[in-house]
Amino acid sequence: MRKLPFLIVAGSFTAVVAAGAGAWHFFGPAGAQTSAKADKGELTTASIDTRAPKSNSTAPAEPPPRVQAVAAAPAAAPIPAAPAVEKRPAIAKPVCNNPNALGVSRTVQIDTTGGPGLGMSQYRDYDFLQPGEVVLTFDDGPWPVTTPAVLAALSAQCVQAVFFPIGKHATWHPAVLKQVIAAGHSVGTHTWSHQNLASKTPQEAKDEIERGISAITLMAGQPLSPFFRFPQLRQNAELKAYLAERNIAAFSIDIDSEDFRIHNAGKLVASVMEKLKKKGKGIILMHDLHKWSAAAVPDLLAQLKAGGYKVVHIRAKDTLPTIASYDAAIAAELQPVKTSNARPISNVIQTVD
Ligand SMILES: [Zn+2]
Repeated sequence: MRKLPFLIVAGSFTAVVAAGAGAWHFFGPAGAQTSAKADKGELTTASIDTRAPKSNSTAPAEPPPRVQAVAAAPAAAPIPAAPAVEKRPAIAKPVCNNPNALGVSRTVQIDTTGGPGLGMSQYRDYDFLQPGEVVLTFDDGPWPVTTPAVLAALSAQCVQAVFFPIGKHATWHPAVLKQVIAAGHSVGTHTWSHQNLASKTPQEAKDEIERGISAITLMAGQPLSPFFRFPQLRQNAELKAYLAERNIAAFSIDIDSEDFRIHNAGKLVASVMEKLKKKGKGIILMHDLHKWSAAAVPDLLAQLKAGGYKVVHIRAKDTLPTIASYDAAIAAELQPVKTSNARPISNVIQTVD
């Protein structure tokens, strides 16, 4: 039997939370991309771009935060493994004021060296959950209102989850991303713009992965967990090998809430609980982008508690280094558009001859 690379973590963690920076937006994405692929009904790039903040939104108040000690590798070179020093993601240890809370029953720490796969629907390497144990995961944020609602519901029951934000969304709503981090959840990544990577060239797919990592790290203002989830769970062997090179764990799922099609909180909870009853345990996939999903979380947690289920939190042993060339490209793209206070060009410069 293969030796599990997990350590059970006990004790408390030092709270090291980046001070919240002011909200910062950039002005909309460059040209809208189109995608006809919506194989699983999940988000497409096109739908992401339609949600881009409009250019008349609040002006940028400050430049993007600088990320220290993150970009460690030369351009495009895979990051070597085996960090010499502890580089665990900074984790806030939230105070739990609810004595009847569901709570986290145990926290597992994952050594992502070699890119292990988690979630039995695709990866069967590590069956680490005991009967009755669940892991809560939320994809496709950060998003205003819905992500904070999910955070409030998790906080009320003193549980932690793993979030897989989308790069573009993080650049639009960095303050929400910071709330997720401040609440002590693990934050991985879910690409730059939620493309189906299996349909892309290797370079395009790599760019989607790394641009997402660099953008979310930049917006977070601190290194992330080396956790990744493929959009629509679409992958191939080459991409999985790339994650392995980068020492990033690939997260699949065990229980799909199917909140991309079940748009009712009550039905969503019932569906998850029914699947859980059959499987007995597993990594649950939800999306903090959807209002019905956010609305379902309080009741889902109540039913998990009533059903005797235990919430396991997953954290990473090490942080995820970004690649400097992608950091630079993202930072350059996200520079706020300077509002010119010059007079209209025709008032100043005229063709006279
Ligand atoms: Zn997704």
